[in-house]
Amino acid sequence: MRITAAVLENAGGPFTLQQIDLADPGPDEVLVRVHSVGICATDLEFANFFPTPAVLGHEGSGVVEQVGERVTGISPGDHVAMSFTSCGDCPLCRGGNPAYCRRFDAVNFTGRRPDGSTALSRDGQPVNGHFLGQSSFASHVVAPARAVVPISKEIDLGVVGPFGCGFGTGAGAVLNVLRPEVGSSVVVFGAGAVGVAAILAARVTGCAVVAAVDVNAGKLDTARLLGATHGVNSADGDPRELLTAIAPHGFDVAIDTTGREDVLRLAVESLGPLGRCGVVGIGPSEQMSFEWRSVLNGRSITGIIGGSSLPQVFLPKLLDLHAAGNFPVDRLITRFPFAQINEAVAALRSGEVGKAVLTL
Ligand SMILES: [Zn+2]
Ligand SMILES: [Zn+2]
Repeated sequence: MRITAAVLENAGGPFTLQQIDLADPGPDEVLVRVHSVGICATDLEFANFFPTPAVLGHEGSGVVEQVGERVTGISPGDHVAMSFTSCGDCPLCRGGNPAYCRRFDAVNFTGRRPDGSTALSRDGQPVNGHFLGQSSFASHVVAPARAVVPISKEIDLGVVGPFGCGFGTGAGAVLNVLRPEVGSSVVVFGAGAVGVAAILAARVTGCAVVAAVDVNAGKLDTARLLGATHGVNSADGDPRELLTAIAPHGFDVAIDTTGREDVLRLAVESLGPLGRCGVVGIGPSEQMSFEWRSVLNGRSITGIIGGSSLPQVFLPKLLDLHAAGNFPVDRLITRFPFAQINEAVAALRSGEVGKAVLTL
């Protein structure tokens, strides 16, 4: 079928809206008509080196139009969120940890299905896709059933997309992995969509102190409005001193969403004894370094992919929290028409918006 997709023609962008072809879903895949799709930092990162021409996008929501012959539990007409995919066969997938699938990169980041094919083409030539199980910067997606989560038709499809990555990543780091105790102190570095989702989750778990650190005053205002007890603008002084004033003996939990070496080091060093640092961001730095004695007092560092979630279990829970008013992410979202994808990317890069969602 003919679809409209935002094609990345050359690494680094921009995206151009084009008519391209999408093959029918395979036996284990579903065809989804995309309602809306969030733009995530991972899209922007991969746009710098992904093999082109390609269609990215991995925070899609929509309505199922067709299902492959082996698909069970998903039917045409179902409303769905989409998330990352996984192989389903390795010990980590079978153990309920698909975010750490042994074939995660092979099934999510090569631009092709595991057999080397792609559902996308243009003038008979292959177009890379299948990005994080989706490539949802497009009017339609062929996704593996494993990456698709049916949701209630009551839920606004315009909000759901980022639950599959950004919101799920931040909230999952707190709710699935770090699990701070009631009354504990948490500091979140980076008050973008992932960071604020972590902040909201920390409030849900009853943390007494939830500090947000950023250089963008507007983002800190939003974080405080939504539940951060403290906003620390690291441009206003030495962030170490500002954090020590909030938690004199160090934080119980720190979360880095920036992927920046200096911030990662600060995140580790802001912890108290036995404190735990969750690393969730994909950022500009290749390395992190810290004074090795700084982890002797029981501190630990954990990398977390996709909120360590089993999407079919975690997303509905998070959507329930949202429906009950306990995960109010709507304020983070700025909507753009699909045709304004490049403007949305620019607004995201400048920090002007927290989460850009394209509406199709
Ligand atoms: Zn696997
Ligand atoms: Zn993402």
